[in-house]
Amino acid sequence: MRQLKLDIKTENIIQKYWQHSHDIPKKVKKYIENHCHNFVLEDMDTPSFYCSSCLHKLNESKICEQCHKKYNLKNKANIYKVNMSNLKKQELNCTYLVFDTPDNEVILYVIDASVTYDNPLSNKPIRNISFKIESAYHILKDKCQNLYTKKVYLYKDIEKKIIEEKYIFCDDIDIYLDENTYNKYLYPDNLNDLKNTIYCYTFLWQAKKYLKNKHICLSNLVYIPLYYPEFEYLIKYKLYSLAFDNPHLIKYDKETKKILNPKSEYLEFIIKNNLDYWHFEALKLCQIKNINLINFMTETVEIFEYLLKIPKIKILELYNYLKTNNYDIIEYYDYIRFSKLLGYDLKNKRVLYPSNLKESHQKIIEQKDIVYDPKYDEKIKKLAKILEKNKYEDDKFLIYPAPSVKELINEGKNQNNCLRFYVEDYSNNKTQIYFMRKKAALKKSFVTIEIKNKKLIQARLKDNEIPNNDIINILNNWTSKLK
Ligand SMILES: [Zn+2]
Repeated sequence: MRQLKLDIKTENIIQKYWQHSHDIPKKVKKYIENHCHNFVLEDMDTPSFYCSSCLHKLNESKICEQCHKKYNLKNKANIYKVNMSNLKKQELNCTYLVFDTPDNEVILYVIDASVTYDNPLSNKPIRNISFKIESAYHILKDKCQNLYTKKVYLYKDIEKKIIEEKYIFCDDIDIYLDENTYNKYLYPDNLNDLKNTIYCYTFLWQAKKYLKNKHICLSNLVYIPLYYPEFEYLIKYKLYSLAFDNPHLIKYDKETKKILNPKSEYLEFIIKNNLDYWHFEALKLCQIKNINLINFMTETVEIFEYLLKIPKIKILELYNYLKTNNYDIIEYYDYIRFSKLLGYDLKNKRVLYPSNLKESHQKIIEQKDIVYDPKYDEKIKKLAKILEKNKYEDDKFLIYPAPSVKELINEGKNQNNCLRFYVEDYSNNKTQIYFMRKKAALKKSFVTIEIKNKKLIQARLKDNEIPNNDIINILNNWTSKLK
């Protein structure tokens, strides 16, 4: 292995890199020409498609009736948007990324191909293609250099920027390599040459088919394969979407290792469905090989992550509930979040899966607005001070007015009762709430008491149980003296 510094290396290859369009090998030009030739032109103004060879409008079956060419519109990367009414003045520009490996060094070229049409309105317009080398990067293990501008890009700086600016999609980070990110394709026919270069551990060539007709960006070929050791792993398992799009997001935690290992029962499923990052995260969460379920979870993985932390929520049950009733996951999430906040019993299936989500959601929002309105809390705090006069104390017990909204909610949570409903009435002194506590455990809820017009309305232990006679006697004694 040569141990040369970047500058010296650059000097070495300076003679060998392509500088003008006539340096581009014929087979590369041929490939690009063919590739551009298979694009479908889509008019920006009308929803119609045109043959890129003769500019005829395609028929319903996407066949050009003039040159009998059949086009495939399934792959979005084959579609090129143009303004058909003004094609004469337009150039169709595409960019190709081409590897070259002189002396087992790696150079990546960015080549612009520009297609123009002479006499576009005639029956046989003449199609011209011209090439321009936009830039050339000398690629090393931890950095690359633009041979034209001499600018050096360290991969660790790119990573820092991604983290700072929270880029999720690698397409965006091309701007750090001074490139635009649109309509870029890879020249795939020489990927095997990378085997004897610094790419030897990336196994990039194995993804040749995947990369062939895909929009691709520089970072997909430079920064990601060389910087992330996970890349090799993902490529070997043929997890191409994961490898190229978001390897920087995959956390190699316990769940990931469970799903990604040679013996994993999920591997075949992931490969078959070519799961991307968000699909993968969804699979990690549900661990069920059901692509409909995974697709359902993908848009809102974070929400499912929250919901599945609630012990009684099981993913299939939830999926069926939402699907059958055509309920919106965001609405459900809000409903559960506020139910939790208000101390509802999330172990109860009737709470977890209300028969009318819309109605229950509406109700809970109203309750939340009352409970979290500071006006009620202020009123309760004032009233509690006045009701202090009814405080009771003996050797064992203490009875005192509920001091705040927060305490009401906590008592409700601890006792599994619905004290949140009493916030409004208690604040207006329509009803009064007292807590009876054991002096030995003052922080623990014991009996929750409702008083109305100086009469005992109800006294409940946890889970709405009735207290024993001794307690009831104390309470009756106490209520008879209420002021
Ligand atoms: Zn045609």
